[in-house]
Amino acid sequence: MSDVDADGEIPVGRGDEIRSVLDRAAAGGRISAQEALLLYTRAPLHALGAAADTVRRSRYPDGIATYIIDRNINYTNVCVTACRFCAFYRAPKHAEGWVREVEDIVVKCGEAVDLGATQIMLQGGHHPDFGIEWYEGVFTAIKAAYPQLALHSLGASEVVHISRTSGIEIAEVITRLREAGLDSFAGAGAEILTERPRHAIAPLKEPGHVWLSVMETAHTLGLESTATFMMGTGETNAERIEHLRMIRDVQDRTGGFRSFIPWTYQPENNHLGGRTQATTLEYLRLVAVARLFFDNIAHLQGSWLTTGKEVGQLTLHMGADDLGSVMLEENVVSSAGARHRTNRSELISLIRTAGRIPAQRDTLYRHLVVHRDPALDPVDDRVASHFSSTALPLVAS
Ligand code: SF4
Repeated sequence: MSDVDADGEIPVGRGDEIRSVLDRAAAGGRISAQEALLLYTRAPLHALGAAADTVRRSRYPDGIATYIIDRNINYTNVCVTACRFCAFYRAPKHAEGWVREVEDIVVKCGEAVDLGATQIMLQGGHHPDFGIEWYEGVFTAIKAAYPQLALHSLGASEVVHISRTSGIEIAEVITRLREAGLDSFAGAGAEILTERPRHAIAPLKEPGHVWLSVMETAHTLGLESTATFMMGTGETNAERIEHLRMIRDVQDRTGGFRSFIPWTYQPENNHLGGRTQATTLEYLRLVAVARLFFDNIAHLQGSWLTTGKEVGQLTLHMGADDLGSVMLEENVVSSAGARHRTNRSELISLIRTAGRIPAQRDTLYRHLVVHRDPALDPVDDRVASHFSSTALPLVAS
């Protein structure tokens, strides 16, 4: 980000303007996309973080920062969409393709419940044979066995895929998934919504405006979601801010995005390769700008999985109020090189040493356990990240 002032001083000639925008945003006022870009590229990091933290404090004066216990369960790695950044998928008929039986998925849910999980994220490839009935079957089976688990799963891309596979309308897909037990959509598949970089990294995935339109339909039908951002695949600063603007516009109409979750591209074992073109400072700046820009999204999650625990902790000083999940299981992002691991005790400690009160939350961000007294912290070594990466060397490009 060459136009960021290297020594942290307010650039000559724009200082008053930057200060004014920061003050307005910190007071809860709305800033434009153009102003967000100005802050992202020109505001001193400490001033940006201070303004974002002011917003966070006024939203959450109790000083609580949250985490959740969940498990990401992958049902298949077979996928027809072939995103260039994805290290997880295998094309149909590939020797390394697999499908997990519904019974196995239910067993994994049971293991997660035993470890205190309150949420399951089902994620998988766009299998050409999976229509709406397959998803209805798995959701129904999970809810029959563990009705207390929140199914925060799939995303707009899966809805588009199911709509094509089963030949039914988007709204019908969403309604049937909800009736089968889906509680909310995960924000996966957003990647970057801005057209040029999205097409460059995922040419077969639905365009960004379609992803948003599916989410808007879901929100209208009563299924809320989160929104994510995978940054660092070669997009420009303006394209990053445009991603935020596209989400905020929909949120103005629906209010259905519970949280915004930015993370960084992982470049291993995929066809895109290269490197993560988002530095730690760029990531932190984006987190802060997101807190200032999204005056209409309640929660902001920092990623420890892709940026590391220390950076994850730093996001708590840049506007984030949540560190996401312990991730009892994760295979997709770790396949592409994310090596970071954590456990419940560590997340609690990261939050506490950042000066916050840790709390375990549920999918709706309700506090389940507030860890005010360290002497009463839960101790269970099994509540930790497990990554059984399925990534293997690519056999063809
Ligand atoms: S990111 Fe999802 S849709 Fe894209 S190739 Fe991987 S599994 Fe398929």
